[in-house]
Amino acid sequence: MTVAHILVLASVLLPCAGSALAEDCVPRRFTDEIQFEVRETPDWYHAVLLAYPDLRAGPDGQTLIAPEGGEIAAAGPTGRQPAAMLDDPTLGDQFTQVYPLTPSLEERQTPFHDPGRIRNQNFFNALYHDNAEAVRAELVTVPAGALGAARFHVTGRQGVACQLQGALAQLEQDPVGLGPFFDEVGGGFNWRRIAGTDRLSPHSYGMAIDINPQLGQYWKWTGAAEGRVGSYENQIPWRLIEAMEDHGFIWGGKWHHFDGMHFEYRPELIIFSRMHGDTSE
Ligand SMILES: [Zn+2]
Repeated sequence: MTVAHILVLASVLLPCAGSALAEDCVPRRFTDEIQFEVRETPDWYHAVLLAYPDLRAGPDGQTLIAPEGGEIAAAGPTGRQPAAMLDDPTLGDQFTQVYPLTPSLEERQTPFHDPGRIRNQNFFNALYHDNAEAVRAELVTVPAGALGAARFHVTGRQGVACQLQGALAQLEQDPVGLGPFFDEVGGGFNWRRIAGTDRLSPHSYGMAIDINPQLGQYWKWTGAAEGRVGSYENQIPWRLIEAMEDHGFIWGGKWHHFDGMHFEYRPELIIFSRMHGDTSE
């Protein structure tokens, strides 16, 4: 038996280390901890500021000041049809649909009800960098610990890695039955366009993860046409989804164009949902 054999054996026999939180990681809980004044207007602009402490309000209320000091346009909702907003949404357009915090797939039955799928690229470029090299330089590896063999590469910016650690640590307290979702996974960072579009995938920014694709399921694999996606049988436990939502990640399984393996750090949408009276209770 060689040293390599012994090392392999040891890694199989040793229990997985828990994904203990990094020393400077204090995860925020967006579904119950973040407080807000409902009178602030516009509410979506206020939700963005609450979600991303690195951003500051611009002097005119029409812009946001990025972490590096640049200005981000913050125009309001345009009122277009969802399908028309996908390619060039304003920041306000991202809030046209309210992400549901309820454990239900009811709302996704409405064609093009995909809260979170409308993304203003300039906004995410400013939050996470606009090129692969710069994003890659800030990646952090987050192991799934007791949940499974997965190791997710996500950005350390905007607290994403810490928030993911927080969600996984919460799930590790009761990992029974979650292994299949975290052994074979789709992964985290991946600089690419969304298949069949010119739009940058949120995985490009290191702010999204895919758990097991087969168990998560994806609308395109059903052969359905865009806007005509039927119902599907969700296999992901609601407690997994809720732990991710608590920590600021929306779930693609609630979209009409469902992407059930996909979780994406969008705390502004969780806060906005709470502002509109949607709760996870
Ligand atoms: Zn994904």
